[in-house]
Amino acid sequence: MNYENSKNNRVLVIGAGLAGVEAAYCLAKNGVSVLLVDSKKSSPNPTQSLDGFAELVCTNSLKSKRPESSHGMLKEEMKKLGSIIIEKALEAAVPAGDALAVDRKFFSEKITDKLLSMEQIEYTPIEISDPTTFMKEHHCDSLIIASGPLTTDPLANWIKDNLSDGPDDLYFYDAMAPVVDGDSLDMTGIYLKDRYKDVGEEIIADYLNCPLTKEEYELFVDDLKNGDKTPTKSFEKPKFFEGCLPIDLMAERGVETLRFSCMKPVGLERADGKLPHAVIQLRRENLLGNAFNLVGFQTRLTHKEQLRIFRKLPGFANAKFFKLGSVHRNTYLNAKKLLAADLSSKKIPNIYFAGQITGVEGYTESAAMGIVAAMQVLRKIRGETPLRFPVESAIGALINYIMTAKDAVPSNINFGLFPLPILTKEQRKIGKRKKDVKKNMICEIATKSFDQFLAEQFFSRSNK
Ligand SMILES: Cc1cc2nc3c(=O)[nH]c(=O)nc-3n(C[C@H](O)[C@H](O)[C@H](O)COP(=O)(O)OP(=O)(O)OC[C@H]3O[C@@H](n4cnc5c(N)ncnc54)[C@H](O)[C@@H]3O)c2cc1C
Repeated sequence: MNYENSKNNRVLVIGAGLAGVEAAYCLAKNGVSVLLVDSKKSSPNPTQSLDGFAELVCTNSLKSKRPESSHGMLKEEMKKLGSIIIEKALEAAVPAGDALAVDRKFFSEKITDKLLSMEQIEYTPIEISDPTTFMKEHHCDSLIIASGPLTTDPLANWIKDNLSDGPDDLYFYDAMAPVVDGDSLDMTGIYLKDRYKDVGEEIIADYLNCPLTKEEYELFVDDLKNGDKTPTKSFEKPKFFEGCLPIDLMAERGVETLRFSCMKPVGLERADGKLPHAVIQLRRENLLGNAFNLVGFQTRLTHKEQLRIFRKLPGFANAKFFKLGSVHRNTYLNAKKLLAADLSSKKIPNIYFAGQITGVEGYTESAAMGIVAAMQVLRKIRGETPLRFPVESAIGALINYIMTAKDAVPSNINFGLFPLPILTKEQRKIGKRKKDVKKNMICEIATKSFDQFLAEQFFSRSNK
């Protein structure tokens, strides 16, 4: 998308990670002068090891590139918006089947070289602790904060003090529950049931339930309390989000706490009508139906302790885990409360946010929010109303999620974020394949709505 030059404006972009790179590139190629800054040279965080921009700190995969997957759709939309991350990822790709995986060093170098070659971009390796003072000193009109999940403490504190209403608007931790291989469980006592719903001919339950007797439950709570925990790293100071507390921390609060939260049995009567003392709920994690998430079981226990303790649970003696639980540092905002729909701060409107700090999760999702923030800044510079990405598109669905989610829990792009398509009577009758039909419809609607959105942008501009 090409806009006319906006030469008199200068935008400060904090963070040369995935989102900051996209934002700087989008602004620069539209003629806006950018001051890009990053703290990694003076104070690298423990995950950083490369010198360049857009460092992939963990896996080298940007997930699926299949256009009929939610990740594939997001990539297609980013490509249409001129994403540098996708362009350079394709150039630095290594064989990885359906996934877009890259040689991370080559990928970072290509992006760094490209950005440093653009005359509109000035780069300064510096840590920012007071953005507004820095903006004034460097004559910047707008700011995009793309400092990521490991935003340095002084900047995080500045955001908390100046852009939020209280300590609960900026989160510092994110937690992952373990995922077990359903085929490795002994299903003898485990039963299918959704809370408060009867399983009939029409309804197939989504949840598996593992019931615990009083003795089993109390032993489990004791194990959680006494098990070895992963020590907190020096850069991590625990500050947990009430809606997503580690299960071991809840166990420490009292023996009954878990029975009134993620292990509550209410509405989960067995076929004989009896209510178990406590229940572990297992939610399907994949369409194949073999991976199950242990609902609410995010934990600080070490991996070794998780295996020891979980395998004592009924049915879990030979459990194999695809993923164990964890709690990790992740700085992100309560976007619904603090941001306007164009990702600008409600308190200081020339400050925008981009990347993981907005409440999305993942490399591509973060990068996409970089493009969005830059496009909104461009609109503001030209005195135009903010763009409204269609909620049916992948980018629109992500924005809609962070702006409306009941709990501010970071999310990857997934089919659950898109509006549900309405099936015809015939389509509703086709049983298990219904999911595939729905996904195909979501893809079709998303592509159509995004293309229409782009066409409208070009049409309205060419008519001005
Ligand atoms: C440990 C860890 C592992 C992850 N693994 C994956 C994974 O495997 N796959 C996946 O899809 N996602 C993963 N993520 C999530 C996330 O997608 C990535 O962190 C992604 O890089 C986020 O992009 P971003 O642009 O928002 O932030 P980043 O890529 O982290 O970029 C932010 C930049 O801002 C800079 N910065 C921070 N504070 C300041 C400051 N005060 N002044 C100046 N600069 C500053 C940092 O140095 C950094 O370069 C992981 C996150 C973490 C923390």
